[in-house]
Amino acid sequence: MRDLNAIPKAELHVHIEGTVRPDIARQLAKKNGVTLPDDIFTPDGQGYQWSGFIDLVTRVYQAMAQCVRTRDDFKTITEDYLDRCANEGAVYVEIIACCGQVHLAGISYKDMIDGIADGIDSARAKHGIEARINMTFERHRPGVEAQNDADMILSYKHPYIVGLDIAGGEMAGDIPQFMNDYNRVVQNFGRPLGIRLHAAENVGPQNGWDALALNPSRLGHGVRIVEDATLVDEIVKRGIALEVCPTSNILAGVYPDFSAHPLKKLLDRGVRISLNSDDPGLFGNSIGEEYRVAHDEFGLTRDQLVQITRDAINDSYADAALKTKLLARVDAMVAANFNMRRPGPAPSP
Ligand SMILES: [Zn+2]
Repeated sequence: MRDLNAIPKAELHVHIEGTVRPDIARQLAKKNGVTLPDDIFTPDGQGYQWSGFIDLVTRVYQAMAQCVRTRDDFKTITEDYLDRCANEGAVYVEIIACCGQVHLAGISYKDMIDGIADGIDSARAKHGIEARINMTFERHRPGVEAQNDADMILSYKHPYIVGLDIAGGEMAGDIPQFMNDYNRVVQNFGRPLGIRLHAAENVGPQNGWDALALNPSRLGHGVRIVEDATLVDEIVKRGIALEVCPTSNILAGVYPDFSAHPLKKLLDRGVRISLNSDDPGLFGNSIGEEYRVAHDEFGLTRDQLVQITRDAINDSYADAALKTKLLARVDAMVAANFNMRRPGPAPSP
């Protein structure tokens, strides 16, 4: 589509360390005196290389994430990512941050959150783009580590933190072990948090059923609910939205190619979805690329893509005033870019 960049976009699922491009990783490594292994980069240095998804999210991700060590580093990577999003027409992004980074890179939790907030403030000043933060538990850190993560999240209630997630490689039966700590954070945060978690991505629909015990409003990925018609009905009935990440699903081997991906099937069944890049620095994709994929590979029209953006804003954990402002911005962009009349009261006779 010629005017793809002009379509307003909103993203609800992107991991902050996963946004780091190779050139930024090298810049931060040099500044912080960290040695990056050459073999995490492609020979031209422009991308990351890996031999399978596990290799990517462990060896490559860990090496890269160790370079992000200070408040200023988090400002740098957040601002860089939001700059790129704004240049592709995004008006709102929800960023996922994890406590594991504190242990991996030795940064304090407060510095990490403040750095992300600094990056959000800088990007807003330049482009008007807005962003918020979801904190996450990680599936490979259950038990005492999850208790400590809950304490950490409760230790600093920055106003930009709006939601809570459980991320990481799924295994059967992995959600119940996080229930106590998840609910403890939600009940003690002092203001409502959006309830969401990665589910039904790597493993089948039972993981989606398990997720419902937390009463979520969104599922990260969630694409494999499509394997259980009763679960799809339940997701639609409860109004739960899926944060779909098409390119990520192909690269992670969830589906062999876009023709096997259920995005269209889910939409046709009445499931509300958003489009998301997941780890765009690692994957080499972007929010704009995911909208292109939705258009080129799944045949979604411009109007459908704009509606997906409006749905994403409504399903976001932005407060009501910000949602109103973002939806007005979407309407203004559509009117300006596509010569369409803004929705509003009919002119008086
Ligand atoms: Zn994710």
